[in-house]
Amino acid sequence: MTPLPPHPHNSPRIALVGAGLAGLSCATALQAAGHSVVLFEKSRGPAGRMSTRRGEDWQCDFGAQYFVARDPAFLAEVQRWSDAGVAQPWKLRLGSFEGSRWKPSTTALVRHVGVPAMTAPAYWLAQGLQVHAHLTVQTLERTVDG
Ligand SMILES: Cc1cc2nc3c(=O)[nH]c(=O)nc-3n(C[C@H](O)[C@H](O)[C@H](O)COP(=O)(O)OP(=O)(O)OC[C@H]3O[C@@H](n4cnc5c(N)ncnc54)[C@H](O)[C@@H]3O)c2cc1C
Repeated sequence: MTPLPPHPHNSPRIALVGAGLAGLSCATALQAAGHSVVLFEKSRGPAGRMSTRRGEDWQCDFGAQYFVARDPAFLAEVQRWSDAGVAQPWKLRLGSFEGSRWKPSTTALVRHVGVPAMTAPAYWLAQGLQVHAHLTVQTLERTVDG
């Protein structure tokens, strides 16, 4: 485990529990605002429910299968992921069976996926952050100075 960075008493040191997309996004914003942030993650890596399972010659996205972006701020974030090569629109053949007839979907909704796996955006965000994996936060305690 990397040692925690020293911190001046006038600047709060922020701990975030969980390196899913919410924790990683929060940490990215706080760090960009000049705060010192540490993430604690109970599993072996970031991504949370945007998870991927791998076998010898296969992999599958085990949690979220795709995501959509409507909010301008999230659209801009997805563009950042796309520019970094860790997300792209999902080119899928979507439709439904009506009886035995295949009816292709006409939806214009753009679905995105992480590439090469759903975990990719999370790992990319985690690169610039201090994430302590295999560490379960069990209790929170108030101390004299925090
Ligand atoms: C099967 C499935 C299918 C889904 N399909 C879709 C979909 O198609 N489209 C879509 O948009 N969304 C989908 N979702 C939902 C999407 O995956 C979640 O909304 C999103 O990933 C949640 O992100 P989060 O950061 O809020 O939480 P999480 O990803 O759950 O992250 C929380 C993190 O906190 C960690 N943690 C929890 N407690 C502690 C502790 N005490 N100490 C340390 N670490 C802790 C966890 O290990 C985890 O990594 C799906 C989810 C599942 C499970």
